[in-house]
Amino acid sequence: MEEELYPIEMDLLHQPFYKAAIILEAKRVKVKQLGLWAPYLSEQDGGMGLSMIEFAQVSELMATTPFGHYVFNCQAPDIGNIELMHKYASPLLKEKYLQPLMKGSIRSCFSMTEPGHAGSNPVNMGTTAVLEGDEYIINGHKWFTTAADGARFAIVMANTNNNASKYERASMILVPADTTGFHLKRNISVMGDAGEGYLSHSEIEYTNCRVPASHLIGKEGSGFLLAQERLGPGRIHHCMRWIGICERAFQLMCKRAVERDMGDGTKLGQKQTIQNWIAESRAEINAARYMVLHAAYKMDLEGSKAAKNEISAIKFFVADILMKVLDRAIQTHGALGITDDTLLSFWYRHERGARIYDGPDEVHKSSLAKAVLKEYGLKT
Ligand SMILES: Cc1cc2nc3c(=O)[nH]c(=O)nc-3n(C[C@H](O)[C@H](O)[C@H](O)COP(=O)(O)OP(=O)(O)OC[C@H]3O[C@@H](n4cnc5c(N)ncnc54)[C@H](O)[C@@H]3O)c2cc1C
Repeated sequence: MEEELYPIEMDLLHQPFYKAAIILEAKRVKVKQLGLWAPYLSEQDGGMGLSMIEFAQVSELMATTPFGHYVFNCQAPDIGNIELMHKYASPLLKEKYLQPLMKGSIRSCFSMTEPGHAGSNPVNMGTTAVLEGDEYIINGHKWFTTAADGARFAIVMANTNNNASKYERASMILVPADTTGFHLKRNISVMGDAGEGYLSHSEIEYTNCRVPASHLIGKEGSGFLLAQERLGPGRIHHCMRWIGICERAFQLMCKRAVERDMGDGTKLGQKQTIQNWIAESRAEINAARYMVLHAAYKMDLEGSKAAKNEISAIKFFVADILMKVLDRAIQTHGALGITDDTLLSFWYRHERGARIYDGPDEVHKSSLAKAVLKEYGLKT
């Protein structure tokens, strides 16, 4: 990170993704040569076979620079799709899509959320997949499909049986992006930045998209089950990443506090408020890290289902710490903090969503509280 990425990270951020991708590709080749590619994958699949608790520590370091995960092919949403397809995709889909995804020669996206329906409880989705002969015909309107721009395929959540019970209506189906009827309407502008490629979130219309029935992932009606399976590791992966961002923002804040001369013979770091922010941030980041490592340890030992409460707790707790640390780091930098001359504004723009995606704070708090209260006999 320090030798290869920190020196070029600002340059990379100031150019369109597709231009930066050329430089990043060279870094990816180097990572492969060093034998550090996709460390969470098994050695058989070209990775290093790290456990969750090992990956948590590596992932934190990768996150200290905006393209760290991308360079090691550990970026969301691909990492989640890889894990999902490993378990549930047919041998044919694995060969055609999973293999190149693991090698980093293609990208993918995950298309569940819809503008017209509450994403935090996606039981009432409008997207349908109707089986006709040996093809599914998909119609629907999705948005916030991260990294769809330039992705080779989307894993789409669609209702295959509207009469089934609410958790058995939906299925996951792989839709190649060159399918007729797959229309990427726009990259959504987020806080003034529509981005492109891997750094974007798209609105997509699926109009009579026909895909082979064999593109079904898992069983028909298992969409929610698979989404939960995908989101368990997905959530802890985000938390690991957020710790790394916190550490880098903290480092920037401390450097600024030491360097900034206040004109009255003191440095900024001699002001008590700044000292409070530094002390609070240090303690909170440490606490967040130990919680994430503990959740990872439990997942390694007992699986993601058993660690459900720990995952809910870190999802809202670490996202909150991330917001606080970023905000304090920005405030410490004064006007400079909101410019694009430091990494802070990039992270502020890109990570505000941390409290919303993969389950908003409120949903995780509610599900954790319900699990606790159940132990005290409250029926929910
Ligand atoms: C940066 C970013 C990237 C994303 N990437 C993807 C992606 O790749 N693929 C994809 O399919 N989706 C993606 N999403 C969408 C994300 O999963 C949804 O935004 C999320 O599930 C919330 O759904 P919603 O936006 O429809 O909000 P709503 O469901 O309308 O909820 C709005 C607000 O209501 C509150 N709320 C919701 N439920 C409760 C409750 N039970 N109790 C109290 N308050 C509640 C919360 O504050 C919530 O923020 C992304 C979102 C963001 C911001």
